[in-house]
Amino acid sequence: MNKVYCYLCDQSSEVTVKKEEEIHTIKGTPVKCEVENAYCGQCGSKVYIPALNDANLDRMDHTYRRQNGIITVQEIEEILRQYNIGAKPLAAMLGWGEVTILRYLKGQIPDRAHSNTLLSLKAPYVFSRYFKQKQERLTPVARTKVLRAMEGLNTKLIGGKDELYERSQRLSQAYHMQPDIYNGFVPFNLEKMVQVILFFLKSGDPVYETGMNKLLWYVDMLCYKRSQRQALTGLCYKHNIYGPVPLWYSYLYGSLDDVYITLVEDKYGTQIGALADFSTDVFSDDELDVLETVANNFKGWSAKKISQYSHQETAYRQTTNGQFISFEYARDLSLS
Ligand SMILES: [Zn+2]
Repeated sequence: MNKVYCYLCDQSSEVTVKKEEEIHTIKGTPVKCEVENAYCGQCGSKVYIPALNDANLDRMDHTYRRQNGIITVQEIEEILRQYNIGAKPLAAMLGWGEVTILRYLKGQIPDRAHSNTLLSLKAPYVFSRYFKQKQERLTPVARTKVLRAMEGLNTKLIGGKDELYERSQRLSQAYHMQPDIYNGFVPFNLEKMVQVILFFLKSGDPVYETGMNKLLWYVDMLCYKRSQRQALTGLCYKHNIYGPVPLWYSYLYGSLDDVYITLVEDKYGTQIGALADFSTDVFSDDELDVLETVANNFKGWSAKKISQYSHQETAYRQTTNGQFISFEYARDLSLS
């Protein structure tokens, strides 16, 4: 570290940088975060280094957003890129003040409602719903740009399969539209959910429905636990006598039947087999890592064994039959 000027010593001296835990209040919420402070080597008093201070503020901001499930600046930028839309047109489309999103891009922290709306736009079908209703608020040029971007996305997402788009619309309508603690703050994402299922079927062995229900739950919970803010598929889960299950899971698997999976009844229950190949395209490295962890943990386990194991989770013990399972319990999950 270079020499830094110390007011008390009235000279530049070597500084020591210490990692310290500080609590700051952001938007009325106390945020505990590890920061780095510099101290004068001569007198030991704190010295101010602008770069260090900026980095500390960034850490606080990140911690606050992660703790509260608030969208980050990078995520907002990604949304603008994804739909090829500017900050002002997007604000107009959402019916917000013209400079609202510009301010968020400069680092102002959105309130929860705005943050949730922005997070939900990550899912193309949510964005397209807003766009269809409010596109007259955009200039013709902006509208054309968005339409082209959405066409590109659709082709990428559905790989030319209209079927998926249709089913995606129908299933999406059935699930929570707004991100909340019961879907792990992500709107339902059919493509990701399908790929999670195909991931567990890629060995070629069928998996019983009751086992798949738990695997999906563990994937979402672990994703939420590791990221501390977001699950993966956007499914909601309920407490069932056999363990946690996705809401309307029969309907869910039923609507994928003959397109992505096969369903075969036997005396033990419904077996799910793969009809399509697993693709890593929709997942980030962190998400793939979650899938691997869950797969390795439950490798070779019977549906019954996974069920019994899931009964030991706090999330299961703290809820009763038919209740929604909050993602709050992810912090106590046995996997990490
Ligand atoms: Zn000093």
